[in-house]
Amino acid sequence: MQHVTTIAELRAVLGRERHQARRIALVPTMGALHEGHLTLVDDARLRADVVVMSLFVNPLQFRPGEDFEKYPRHLEADRARAEARGVDVLFAPTVEEMYRAGGEIRIVAGETASRWEGAARPGHFEGVLTVVAKLFNIVQPDVACFGQKDIQQVTLVRHLIAQLDFPIELAVVPTVREADGLALSSRNVYLNAADRHAALALSRALQAAVTRWEAGERTAATLRDVALAVLAGTSGVVTDYVAVVDGMRMLPVDRAEPGSIIAVAARVGSTRLIDNVLLGRRGA
Ligand code: AMP
Repeated sequence: MQHVTTIAELRAVLGRERHQARRIALVPTMGALHEGHLTLVDDARLRADVVVMSLFVNPLQFRPGEDFEKYPRHLEADRARAEARGVDVLFAPTVEEMYRAGGEIRIVAGETASRWEGAARPGHFEGVLTVVAKLFNIVQPDVACFGQKDIQQVTLVRHLIAQLDFPIELAVVPTVREADGLALSSRNVYLNAADRHAALALSRALQAAVTRWEAGERTAATLRDVALAVLAGTSGVVTDYVAVVDGMRMLPVDRAEPGSIIAVAARVGSTRLIDNVLLGRRGA
Protein backbone atom coordinates (compact mmCIF):
# COMPACT_ATOMS: atom_id res chain seq x y z
CA MET A 1 0.00 0.00 0.00
CA GLN A 2 1.21 3.46 -0.85
CA HIS A 3 0.70 6.10 1.83
CA VAL A 4 0.35 9.52 0.25
CA THR A 5 -0.11 12.83 2.03
CA THR A 6 -0.06 15.43 -0.75
CA ILE A 7 -2.44 16.13 -3.60
CA ALA A 8 0.41 16.39 -6.10
CA GLU A 9 1.84 12.99 -5.13
CA LEU A 10 -1.60 11.35 -5.29
CA ARG A 11 -2.23 12.81 -8.74
CA ALA A 12 1.13 11.48 -9.94
CA VAL A 13 0.43 7.98 -8.58
CA LEU A 14 -3.10 7.85 -10.02
CA GLY A 15 -2.04 9.38 -13.32
CA ARG A 16 0.19 6.36 -13.89
CA GLU A 17 -2.68 3.98 -13.04
CA ARG A 18 -5.09 5.81 -15.33
CA HIS A 19 -2.52 5.72 -18.10
CA GLN A 20 -2.71 1.92 -17.90
CA ALA A 21 -6.52 2.14 -18.18
CA ARG A 22 -7.02 0.83 -14.66
CA ARG A 23 -10.34 1.51 -12.96
CA ILE A 24 -10.07 3.57 -9.80
CA ALA A 25 -12.38 3.33 -6.77
CA LEU A 26 -12.52 5.89 -3.99
CA VAL A 27 -13.56 5.14 -0.41
CA PRO A 28 -13.78 8.42 1.52
CA THR A 29 -13.45 8.13 5.33
CA MET A 30 -12.59 10.15 8.38
CA GLY A 31 -10.51 7.28 9.77
CA ALA A 32 -10.93 5.44 13.10
CA LEU A 33 -11.54 2.54 10.75
CA HIS A 34 -13.98 -0.19 11.67
CA GLU A 35 -15.56 -3.10 9.84
CA GLY A 36 -18.08 -0.76 8.17
CA HIS A 37 -15.29 1.18 6.45
CA LEU A 38 -13.49 -2.03 5.55
CA THR A 39 -16.62 -3.47 3.97
CA LEU A 40 -16.61 -0.43 1.68
CA VAL A 41 -13.07 -1.44 0.72
CA ASP A 42 -14.26 -4.98 -0.11
CA ASP A 43 -16.98 -3.50 -2.30
CA ALA A 44 -14.52 -1.14 -3.98
CA ARG A 45 -12.17 -4.06 -4.64
CA LEU A 46 -14.91 -5.82 -6.62
CA ARG A 47 -15.57 -2.72 -8.73
CA ALA A 48 -12.11 -1.45 -9.61
CA ASP A 49 -8.43 -2.29 -10.09
CA VAL A 50 -7.09 0.38 -7.76
CA VAL A 51 -8.66 1.13 -4.38
CA VAL A 52 -7.95 4.57 -2.96
CA MET A 53 -9.02 5.29 0.61
CA SER A 54 -9.02 8.87 1.80
CA LEU A 55 -8.60 9.46 5.48
CA PHE A 56 -9.36 13.04 6.44
CA VAL A 57 -11.21 14.57 9.38
CA ASN A 58 -12.76 17.47 7.51
CA PRO A 59 -13.10 20.58 9.70
CA LEU A 60 -15.64 22.10 7.30
CA GLN A 61 -18.31 19.59 8.22
CA PHE A 62 -18.09 20.11 11.99
CA ARG A 63 -19.85 22.98 13.69
CA PRO A 64 -18.29 24.89 16.60
CA GLY A 65 -18.93 22.83 19.73
CA GLU A 66 -19.06 19.52 17.84
CA ASP A 67 -16.39 16.86 18.23
CA PHE A 68 -13.80 17.93 15.61
CA GLU A 69 -11.00 18.17 18.20
CA LYS A 70 -11.84 14.98 20.05
CA TYR A 71 -12.80 12.92 16.96
CA PRO A 72 -10.79 9.66 17.25
CA ARG A 73 -7.57 9.75 15.22
CA HIS A 74 -5.47 6.58 15.00
CA LEU A 75 -3.38 6.94 11.87
CA GLU A 76 -1.00 4.05 12.55
CA ALA A 77 -3.77 1.57 13.38
CA ASP A 78 -5.83 2.79 10.41
CA ARG A 79 -2.89 2.40 8.11
CA ALA A 80 -2.37 -1.21 9.20
CA ARG A 81 -6.09 -2.02 8.85
CA ALA A 82 -6.36 -0.43 5.42
CA GLU A 83 -3.30 -2.26 4.18
CA ALA A 84 -4.44 -5.62 5.60
CA ARG A 85 -7.79 -5.19 3.82
CA GLY A 86 -6.21 -4.49 0.45
CA VAL A 87 -6.29 -0.71 0.05
CA ASP A 88 -3.78 0.22 -2.68
CA VAL A 89 -3.38 3.92 -1.96
CA LEU A 90 -4.08 5.62 1.37
CA PHE A 91 -4.50 9.38 0.98
CA ALA A 92 -4.17 11.05 4.38
CA PRO A 93 -3.58 14.77 3.89
CA THR A 94 -3.32 17.42 6.59
CA VAL A 95 -5.96 20.15 6.83
CA GLU A 96 -3.36 22.61 5.52
CA GLU A 97 -2.71 20.45 2.47
CA MET A 98 -6.38 19.92 1.70
CA TYR A 99 -7.25 23.62 1.98
CA ARG A 100 -3.93 25.04 0.78
CA ALA A 101 -5.64 26.89 -2.07
CA GLY A 102 -8.16 28.43 0.35
CA GLY A 103 -11.45 27.46 1.92
CA GLU A 104 -13.85 30.10 0.69
CA ILE A 105 -15.69 28.23 -2.03
CA ARG A 106 -18.46 25.89 -0.87
CA ILE A 107 -21.00 23.60 -2.45
CA VAL A 108 -24.45 24.82 -1.38
CA ALA A 109 -26.29 21.70 -0.39
CA GLY A 110 -29.87 22.79 -1.20
CA GLU A 111 -33.24 21.70 0.12
CA THR A 112 -32.53 17.99 0.61
CA ALA A 113 -29.89 19.06 3.11
CA SER A 114 -32.24 21.32 5.05
CA ARG A 115 -34.00 18.47 6.87
CA TRP A 116 -33.00 15.87 9.46
CA GLU A 117 -29.20 15.81 9.82
CA GLY A 118 -28.98 19.15 8.02
CA ALA A 119 -31.43 20.75 10.43
CA ALA A 120 -29.61 19.32 13.45
CA ARG A 121 -26.19 20.26 12.07
CA PRO A 122 -26.46 23.46 9.99
CA GLY A 123 -23.64 23.71 7.47
CA HIS A 124 -22.69 20.06 7.90
CA PHE A 125 -23.66 18.94 4.42
CA GLU A 126 -22.05 21.94 2.75
CA GLY A 127 -18.83 20.84 4.39
CA VAL A 128 -19.38 17.22 3.35
CA LEU A 129 -20.25 18.01 -0.26
CA THR A 130 -17.38 20.47 -0.58
CA VAL A 131 -14.80 17.95 0.58
CA VAL A 132 -16.37 15.14 -1.48
CA ALA A 133 -16.27 17.34 -4.59
CA LYS A 134 -12.61 18.14 -3.86
CA LEU A 135 -11.84 14.43 -3.43
CA PHE A 136 -13.66 13.64 -6.68
CA ASN A 137 -11.55 16.22 -8.50
CA ILE A 138 -8.32 15.09 -6.89
CA VAL A 139 -8.83 11.33 -7.30
CA GLN A 140 -11.08 11.32 -10.41
CA PRO A 141 -12.42 7.89 -9.48
CA ASP A 142 -14.55 5.74 -11.75
CA VAL A 143 -16.56 4.62 -8.75
CA ALA A 144 -17.03 6.00 -5.24
CA CYS A 145 -18.24 3.83 -2.34
CA PHE A 146 -20.38 5.24 0.47
CA GLY A 147 -22.24 3.60 3.37
CA GLN A 148 -26.01 3.44 3.68
CA LYS A 149 -25.40 4.21 7.36
CA ASP A 150 -25.26 7.91 6.41
CA ILE A 151 -28.32 7.77 4.19
CA GLN A 152 -28.89 11.50 3.78
CA GLN A 153 -25.24 11.93 2.86
CA VAL A 154 -25.63 9.22 0.20
CA THR A 155 -28.71 10.95 -1.18
CA LEU A 156 -26.87 14.26 -1.39
CA VAL A 157 -23.78 12.71 -2.97
CA ARG A 158 -26.08 11.18 -5.59
CA HIS A 159 -27.41 14.69 -6.33
CA LEU A 160 -23.87 16.09 -6.33
CA ILE A 161 -22.75 13.56 -8.93
CA ALA A 162 -25.83 14.07 -11.12
CA GLN A 163 -26.12 17.84 -10.84
CA LEU A 164 -22.42 18.71 -11.16
CA ASP A 165 -21.92 16.04 -13.86
CA PHE A 166 -19.20 14.02 -12.20
CA PRO A 167 -18.61 10.93 -14.39
CA ILE A 168 -18.61 8.71 -11.32
CA GLU A 169 -20.60 5.63 -10.40
CA LEU A 170 -21.99 5.67 -6.86
CA ALA A 171 -21.91 2.42 -4.89
CA VAL A 172 -23.96 2.26 -1.69
CA VAL A 173 -22.95 -0.39 0.82
CA PRO A 174 -25.45 -1.75 3.41
CA THR A 175 -24.84 -0.84 7.04
CA VAL A 176 -22.52 -3.16 8.97
CA ARG A 177 -23.75 -3.89 12.49
CA GLU A 178 -22.53 -5.49 15.70
CA ALA A 179 -24.07 -8.88 16.43
CA ASP A 180 -26.63 -7.19 18.71
CA GLY A 181 -27.74 -4.76 15.99
CA LEU A 182 -25.82 -1.59 16.85
CA ALA A 183 -24.65 0.09 13.65
CA LEU A 184 -20.86 0.41 13.62
CA SER A 185 -19.72 4.02 13.97
CA SER A 186 -16.45 5.70 14.82
CA ARG A 187 -18.43 7.60 17.46
CA ASN A 188 -19.38 4.39 19.33
CA VAL A 189 -16.08 4.73 21.23
CA TYR A 190 -17.67 7.66 23.07
CA LEU A 191 -20.28 5.35 24.63
CA ASN A 192 -19.77 4.05 28.17
CA ALA A 193 -21.23 0.64 29.10
CA ALA A 194 -24.67 2.06 30.03
CA ASP A 195 -24.78 4.22 26.88
CA ARG A 196 -23.73 1.27 24.76
CA HIS A 197 -26.68 -0.70 26.08
CA ALA A 198 -29.12 2.19 25.65
CA ALA A 199 -27.84 2.78 22.09
CA LEU A 200 -29.40 -0.52 21.03
CA ALA A 201 -32.74 1.32 21.15
CA LEU A 202 -32.01 2.83 17.72
CA SER A 203 -31.71 -0.49 15.89
CA ARG A 204 -34.51 -2.00 18.01
CA ALA A 205 -36.79 0.91 17.12
CA LEU A 206 -36.06 0.46 13.42
CA GLN A 207 -36.51 -3.30 13.65
CA ALA A 208 -39.86 -2.88 15.40
CA ALA A 209 -41.04 -0.61 12.58
CA VAL A 210 -39.72 -3.00 9.92
CA THR A 211 -41.55 -5.91 11.58
CA ARG A 212 -44.82 -3.92 11.41
CA TRP A 213 -44.10 -2.97 7.81
CA GLU A 214 -43.42 -6.58 6.90
CA ALA A 215 -46.73 -7.50 8.54
CA GLY A 216 -48.44 -5.15 6.07
CA GLU A 217 -48.59 -1.79 7.85
CA ARG A 218 -47.95 1.00 5.34
CA THR A 219 -49.08 4.13 7.21
CA ALA A 220 -45.94 6.14 7.83
CA ALA A 221 -47.31 7.81 10.97
CA THR A 222 -48.01 4.41 12.55
CA LEU A 223 -44.54 3.08 11.73
CA ARG A 224 -43.04 6.26 13.11
CA ASP A 225 -45.00 5.85 16.34
CA VAL A 226 -43.81 2.26 16.68
CA ALA A 227 -40.18 3.40 16.45
CA LEU A 228 -40.74 6.42 18.69
CA ALA A 229 -42.28 4.22 21.39
CA VAL A 230 -39.17 2.02 21.55
CA LEU A 231 -36.91 5.06 21.81
CA ALA A 232 -39.13 6.77 24.40
CA GLY A 233 -39.19 3.58 26.45
CA THR A 234 -35.40 3.45 26.79
CA SER A 235 -33.89 5.55 29.56
CA GLY A 236 -30.80 7.50 28.59
CA VAL A 237 -32.04 8.01 25.02
CA VAL A 238 -33.30 11.40 23.82
CA THR A 239 -34.90 11.16 20.39
CA ASP A 240 -34.00 13.80 17.85
CA TYR A 241 -36.18 12.51 14.99
CA VAL A 242 -37.77 9.46 13.44
CA ALA A 243 -38.39 10.16 9.75
CA VAL A 244 -40.24 8.03 7.22
CA VAL A 245 -39.09 9.45 3.89
CA ASP A 246 -38.60 8.78 0.21
CA GLY A 247 -35.14 7.80 -0.96
CA MET A 248 -34.67 10.59 -3.48
CA ARG A 249 -35.25 13.82 -1.57
CA MET A 250 -35.69 12.63 2.02
CA LEU A 251 -39.21 14.08 2.03
CA PRO A 252 -41.73 12.65 4.51
CA VAL A 253 -44.14 10.18 2.94
CA ASP A 254 -47.66 9.26 4.06
CA ARG A 255 -47.30 5.66 2.99
CA ALA A 256 -44.15 3.61 3.40
CA GLU A 257 -43.52 1.61 0.24
CA PRO A 258 -40.53 -0.49 -0.91
CA GLY A 259 -37.65 1.97 -1.29
CA SER A 260 -38.92 4.25 1.51
CA ILE A 261 -36.49 4.90 4.33
CA ILE A 262 -36.97 5.04 8.07
CA ALA A 263 -34.22 7.17 9.59
CA VAL A 264 -33.58 7.85 13.24
CA ALA A 265 -31.32 10.16 15.22
CA ALA A 266 -31.02 10.18 18.99
CA ARG A 267 -28.73 11.39 21.68
CA VAL A 268 -27.36 8.69 23.97
CA GLY A 269 -25.55 10.32 26.86
CA SER A 270 -23.60 13.05 25.14
CA THR A 271 -23.24 11.14 21.86
CA ARG A 272 -25.52 11.72 18.88
CA LEU A 273 -26.16 8.53 16.89
CA ILE A 274 -27.99 7.90 13.61
CA ASP A 275 -29.30 4.78 11.93
CA ASN A 276 -31.76 3.88 9.17
CA VAL A 277 -33.38 1.08 7.21
CA LEU A 278 -34.34 0.89 3.58
CA LEU A 279 -37.70 -0.87 3.37
CA GLY A 280 -38.05 -3.92 1.20
CA ARG A 281 -34.40 -4.13 0.17
CA ARG A 282 -31.52 -6.36 1.15
CA GLY A 283 -29.58 -4.71 3.96
CA ALA A 284 -32.77 -3.43 5.61
P1 AMP B 1 -16.95 8.23 8.23
O1 AMP B 1 -15.54 7.85 8.48
O2 AMP B 1 -17.83 8.11 9.43
O3 AMP B 1 -17.09 9.54 7.50
O4 AMP B 1 -17.53 7.14 7.23
C1 AMP B 1 -16.90 6.88 6.01
C2 AMP B 1 -17.77 6.02 5.16
O5 AMP B 1 -18.04 4.79 5.85
C3 AMP B 1 -19.15 6.67 4.88
O6 AMP B 1 -19.52 6.41 3.54
C4 AMP B 1 -20.03 5.96 5.86
O7 AMP B 1 -21.38 5.94 5.46
C5 AMP B 1 -19.43 4.58 5.88
N1 AMP B 1 -19.82 3.87 7.09
C6 AMP B 1 -19.76 4.32 8.36
N2 AMP B 1 -20.27 3.41 9.21
C7 AMP B 1 -20.67 2.36 8.45
C8 AMP B 1 -21.29 1.11 8.74
N3 AMP B 1 -21.62 0.75 9.98
N4 AMP B 1 -21.56 0.29 7.71
C9 AMP B 1 -21.26 0.63 6.44
N5 AMP B 1 -20.66 1.80 6.10
C10 AMP B 1 -20.39 2.65 7.09
